[in-house]
Amino acid sequence: MEHFPKSRLNQAQIDKEDRIHTSINDFNEAKQVIAGGVNSPVRAFKSVGGTPIFIQKGQGCYLIDNDGNAYIDFVQSWGPLLFGHSDDEILQAVQESLQNGLSFGAPTRAETQLAKAIITSYDGVDKVRFVSSGTEATMSAIRLARAFSGRDDIIKFDGCYHGHSDSLLVSAGSGCATFGTPSSPGVPSDLSKHTLVARYNDIDSVQKCIEASGQVGAIIIEPIAGNMGLVPAEAEFLLSLRKLCSERGIVLIIDEVMSGFRAAFNGVQHFVPIEPDLVCFGKVVGGGMPLAVFGGRAEIMDMLSPQGAVYQAGTLSGNPIATAAGLAMLKKLAKDKGLYERLESLARRFVSGLESSAKAHNIPLQTQVRGSMFGFFFASKPVKNFDDAKSADTAMYARFHQEMLQRGVYLACSQFETGFICAPMSEAIIDEAIQAASESFAFIASERA
Ligand SMILES: *Cc1c(COP(=O)(O)O)cnc(C)c1O
Repeated sequence: MEHFPKSRLNQAQIDKEDRIHTSINDFNEAKQVIAGGVNSPVRAFKSVGGTPIFIQKGQGCYLIDNDGNAYIDFVQSWGPLLFGHSDDEILQAVQESLQNGLSFGAPTRAETQLAKAIITSYDGVDKVRFVSSGTEATMSAIRLARAFSGRDDIIKFDGCYHGHSDSLLVSAGSGCATFGTPSSPGVPSDLSKHTLVARYNDIDSVQKCIEASGQVGAIIIEPIAGNMGLVPAEAEFLLSLRKLCSERGIVLIIDEVMSGFRAAFNGVQHFVPIEPDLVCFGKVVGGGMPLAVFGGRAEIMDMLSPQGAVYQAGTLSGNPIATAAGLAMLKKLAKDKGLYERLESLARRFVSGLESSAKAHNIPLQTQVRGSMFGFFFASKPVKNFDDAKSADTAMYARFHQEMLQRGVYLACSQFETGFICAPMSEAIIDEAIQAASESFAFIASERA
């Protein structure tokens, strides 16, 4: 931290009024020309209050805002930056690739290399195709699964997020309805009726959806859900799901856009012996650049155009710069033995620090860790599905978020997100964040008293 000495953080802890924030001006200006002032809704801080911090640069585990304030960053661009911001080797790979141009719209050897690196990392993947976002990956996987199974209905799980394509922007209707309703205006209900919504970690609810529809062709799941807060699927549930899909000829799409190469090198497969029919990756696999992947069994992937009839394409798909970043990331991951164990122990250190200081102030807290991913809910019972998650105290989360930000810690700006540890974090940095948490809890408790 050459340019942004740690004293700055300490100073903020002592006298938080001293921090200068001009981001509010930046946000007001952005709002004039960008819808809502942001290019992805969660960034607007709507669910935690206040205004978003405008970022100047990232360095290691720190984000630096336009005013030069440094924050310990537990968001890491929502997952991708496993080695933190501005990692030397990844930047170098990008710079080398830059010399040759930005985009060709023609194949390169590097794409084949990245494909091989992914296929050898994950069981059950024979072939892949690259796209530019997780949304595209899941959307394309769904189209392919529908074509392969010859059936139109799909099942998703309440609380899982798979990007913003029409078929997947569907939530559970009221009561015990299994057929989904659009979760956004603009999604036709004629389309959303083909998406049934089951309960996470509840195999009976899946069975009910299958019976109700009679023509389910695909099931898509986040095996380690990170978009309702961190809620891992139970092993027994995942294995039952696999069995059910195989018995019924349903294509199982495992969405590892967040968890792949993040929770562990081989994502959920490190925890549960499950193979997908199709799988999606994104975030880490692009090394911080716009790159995502869908892949799976050859007989399904071979249905894609040009070999098969299922259409899917992309002008910037397999972009050389993104491919170079992804390759550099996977190479680094493969050679760093013990990395995930180290990141997991830092995650455990952080959540146990949170637990003990929350407990000291009688604040109920539930925590979860999967590798370098962690989550916490202000709730008094364990969270196993979206209904449980929604019962958490979001107002408390908002207060905590504000206090942590004031003390130089950048947490996800919603209760329903996951936290990420990155390699440049050390025990000392985690302890600084725990110290900030314990001061935040003390402050919040004193407000309540
Ligand atoms: C982030 C995410 C997506 C969407 O990826 P984008 O690149 O934001 O379109 C899909 N699925 C999961 C599980 C994700 O976490």
